[in-house]
Amino acid sequence: MTERKVRVRFAPSPTGPLHMGGVRTALFNYLFAKKHNGDFILRIEDTDQNRFVPGAEEYIIESLNWCGLNPEEGPGIGGEFGPYRQSERKELYKKYADQLVESGWAYFAFDTPEEIDALRKEAEANKETFSYGIGTRKNLNNSLKLSSEEVQQKIDAGENYVIRFKMPEDKDVTEEDLIRGSVTFNTTKSLDDKVLFKSDGMPTYHLANVVDDHLMEISHVIRGEEWLPSMPLHVLLYKALGWEETKPKFAHLPLILKPVGKGKLSKRDGDKLGFPVFPLKWSDPKSGDVSRGYREDGYFPGAFINLLALLGWNPGTEQEFFSLDELGKIFSLDRVVKSGSRFDPEKAKWFNKHYFQGKSVEELSELFKPILEEKGVKASDKKINAVVAEIKERCEFVSDIWDQGYYFFVAPKEYDAKTVKKRWKEDTPNKLAEIVNMFESVEKWEAASIKDAFSGFMNEKEWGFGVVMNPLRLSLVGGNVGPDLFVICELLGKAEAIARITSAIENISKQ
Ligand code: GLU
Repeated sequence: MTERKVRVRFAPSPTGPLHMGGVRTALFNYLFAKKHNGDFILRIEDTDQNRFVPGAEEYIIESLNWCGLNPEEGPGIGGEFGPYRQSERKELYKKYADQLVESGWAYFAFDTPEEIDALRKEAEANKETFSYGIGTRKNLNNSLKLSSEEVQQKIDAGENYVIRFKMPEDKDVTEEDLIRGSVTFNTTKSLDDKVLFKSDGMPTYHLANVVDDHLMEISHVIRGEEWLPSMPLHVLLYKALGWEETKPKFAHLPLILKPVGKGKLSKRDGDKLGFPVFPLKWSDPKSGDVSRGYREDGYFPGAFINLLALLGWNPGTEQEFFSLDELGKIFSLDRVVKSGSRFDPEKAKWFNKHYFQGKSVEELSELFKPILEEKGVKASDKKINAVVAEIKERCEFVSDIWDQGYYFFVAPKEYDAKTVKKRWKEDTPNKLAEIVNMFESVEKWEAASIKDAFSGFMNEKEWGFGVVMNPLRLSLVGGNVGPDLFVICELLGKAEAIARITSAIENISKQ
């Protein structure tokens, strides 16, 4: 038998921003496709009109783009199995729902939402949960109970109805999950009669998902663990529709867990614990709430992808840094674990640091320029490169360059009070004025020669280094921070260094 072409899909619903767990699902699908020279497809599952959120689809596409997870087929890309947005495939699903009714695998149900709600409440009062299915369906308002004439009358009268799957009684549905092994669900114990087709003329997730996976010739369904309970229904749908032969293989990915405590990493954890849970910044169109994103927080897409890859998968070696290309060569589902993986925000920063350090000074300078612009700073490329080269090692993010080196670009407006109190003595201004004179005469304004001139001068004067060094640093950068003092002098340039010392002499003495 010839091997089937690998075709996988990422099938998000545009109900909000993509959580990092969603990006990981997309990533694992992408890597699986790359590994097997297959196709990676993006399908937008937007059949639930009530949960549609404007901007969410664009957000999903932009996120995948930023991560470099480019689909071969999808909305806006095209492909021979399109359209790839379920709302545009609307007409296609009804016939499959009808086919299931005709073959006895599904039935019409006329119960109104209010009636179902009342049944739910009644069950709750008895400390039970209502489920529409094997135990209850015979007594409800549906085509299993009503005669075919009654059913026809209701349909002709335009009564609203849904089509429900008729779960077979007491059957064990066993399916092989590529991550979990063999999984069995008993229909009577754990499965209800899910709605397949709604009264608004739209299919539900279950029907549309199975129909599309079949029509799009999907070979492997790789998705989050939360969909595992849907697997038996999907397996039965393949059987009921006569598509068992080409049914895809299933793989359910483990959860990403909170950094501390119990449970799944939720959309709210980021705000609570101070790290992003979304790839990009998201502004909620209804509430206006803004959630931070990895991109805007300064993460490199390579670092983000690298850290996601290791949440639930391991290479079987000690290696921790991987490019997307490299991952696409070695990824395999056998190395995906069953249990959840705890997300560690500190480790995420550590990954970013590695990618940051791997960039050249010129690349980092380019990324840093927008920050300088935002701060209203103009500086030459030569100076920016020199500053970046000097402080690169202390940084993890591009924004750290500013935090660690702002004083190279703006003169201090105020001076650290503690240092002033401790180091600024009565005769400091006079001493610094003499230093200024000496600096004026330094010809080659480079750290080494400034240092030589300074040391010679200090020896001559017989002043202790400490008496001058700290006030000098305070004058140049406003506090007790920064690298070697003479490097700072060089990078500031002679005129600027002298101007800063002169202005400190004037201003600190007045403080
Ligand atoms: N639309 C589902 C979701 O939002 C897709 C689940 C699946 O991959 O089958 O996650």
